[in-house]
Amino acid sequence: MNAAYHHSHPKLSHNQSEILACLRKAKEPMSAYAILDRVRTVGISHPPTVYRALNELMQKGMVHRLQSKSAFVACGHGACDGKFAFAICRQCDKVVEIPLSDEDQATLLQLAPEEIAPEQVTLEIAGLCEDCRPSAAS
Ligand SMILES: [Zn+2]
Ligand SMILES: [Zn+2]
Repeated sequence: MNAAYHHSHPKLSHNQSEILACLRKAKEPMSAYAILDRVRTVGISHPPTVYRALNELMQKGMVHRLQSKSAFVACGHGACDGKFAFAICRQCDKVVEIPLSDEDQATLLQLAPEEIAPEQVTLEIAGLCEDCRPSAAS
C-alpha cells in the first residue's frame, strides 16, 4: 500500500473515474455495495469490478477507507499520501479528513509495543458535528 502515491494527475480508467465521481457526489462514506448500486446506471455491475477500482483509487490516495464503518470516502484534498486521520460525526456520518504531519504519524507509530513492528496507523475520532450538537439557543 505504500508504492503508487504522489501522482498529482493520475490517469483514471472509466471505472475508476465513475466510482470517484460517485463518492465525491455522495459527500458521505459509502459501502462498496452502496457504490455498486449507484454505478449500475453507468454499466458497472459486478462487485469485483467495484472492489478493484476502489483498491486502485486507494493506492493513488484519492479514496480512503474508514475502518470503523467499512466504508469509503473520496479524499478531502483530491489525493494525499496516506497520512491522515478522520473525524466522524456519529450522528450524521459527516467526515472531515485531517492531514497528519510526518511527526504526528511518527508519534502515533511509536505507541506500538516492542512486540509489534508498526507499519501504519488508522486514527478515527468520533463526535458530534456543529449541526448535530444541541445548540444552547434553542
Ligand atoms: Zn486524503
Ligand atoms: Zn452531524
